Amino acid sequence: MLQFVAVGLAVHLVFFYSIFDIYFTSPLVHGMTPQRTPLSPPAKRLVLFVADGLRADVLYRLDENGSPRASYLRKVIEEKGSWGVSHTHVPTESRPGHVALIAGFYEDVSAVAKGWKDNPIEFDSVFNESKYTWSWGSPDILPMFAKGASKDHIYTFMYPAENEDFAAEDASKLDTWVFDEAKKFLISAKNNDTLLSQLLEEKIVFFLHLLGLDTNGHAHRPMSREYIENVKIVDAAIREFVSLIENFYENDEKTAYVFTSDHGMTDWGTHGAGHPSETMTPLVAWGAGVQQAQQVARQNFPDNLLQGMLHIDVLFFVYFQADVAPLMSSLIGVPLPLNSVGVLPLELLNNTDLFKAESMYSNALQILEQYKVDGKITLSKFFPFLFTSLIIMYI
Ligand SMILES: [Zn+2]
Repeated sequence: MLQFVAVGLAVHLVFFYSIFDIYFTSPLVHGMTPQRTPLSPPAKRLVLFVADGLRADVLYRLDENGSPRASYLRKVIEEKGSWGVSHTHVPTESRPGHVALIAGFYEDVSAVAKGWKDNPIEFDSVFNESKYTWSWGSPDILPMFAKGASKDHIYTFMYPAENEDFAAEDASKLDTWVFDEAKKFLISAKNNDTLLSQLLEEKIVFFLHLLGLDTNGHAHRPMSREYIENVKIVDAAIREFVSLIENFYENDEKTAYVFTSDHGMTDWGTHGAGHPSETMTPLVAWGAGVQQAQQVARQNFPDNLLQGMLHIDVLFFVYFQADVAPLMSSLIGVPLPLNSVGVLPLELLNNTDLFKAESMYSNALQILEQYKVDGKITLSKFFPFLFTSLIIMYI
């Protein structure tokens, strides 16, 4: 009897410990060799727009008069881009959403438990791998990608945190601030030779973080006039910013654009859990290296949330949020973020088969690198006879 109790207790203790080991130990490893495609990339620069808290269906749905809410993005979808839904993981919060998009991995619970704003441990990102990244937006989001970056090449322009509160009356001001500042920045480069030469480099990123929608969604809910008006403001500002970029670079067709959001929002203005309204975010990509709109006969959409309301006959794709990171790396030709688990969405690339094959190969090597490093760590921590793997045998 005593033996039975002792064995039972031991088993329970092992299970109890395993919970902490699985959920409260970061799965991130360090020391991998960076991998990138050796062929020259299609884009010299990338513009990433993240509309914080934007639901896929609210963006894509037509209004009561049958006209699109985001007329510019709708035109992009119909004429020159690729579009779809990107599925996020739980918790549907800003920090893990941005980490998945820009660093390509889903934060583990240990990271979330350590707070929303600070890096629990260092990680690599598309921004870190870029030559330069300029970012505008909320002080809650931008610093996590600048902090710990290997050298000083990620620049952040943020409104003071207090603005997030007093912009509550009209939160779209947070978004117009971002576009205004980014515009001023580009205009100022014309009289600043140092900046101008940086802007003419390849492998650069512009990141516009738009918190207004999230704030309006919490305050007024995603079906409110304020939220939908904010969608229109963002859409018009993107149209203007794209034309500014195109003028600045004299329509060299070397700019790639990605528009998405970090998470969605429930009808009652919350997020964090796993309801489709929270996990389904829009993804629209266009410009250099991105597959152009492909006409198809009317299609069925995979989820009830989108069913029957899009009235759009352009091929639709479903992605996972972390796949956006390898997509962005591939477009501007920077190494894949070291900790990324994203799989390059090939159907989004407008490139040769050789380029796609090379990109896929470097993506596979980059994920294998993590497995190898993780394998070595595990072998060194535990009894080898408890841990065997065919791949580890080849290392
Ligand atoms: Zn929020």
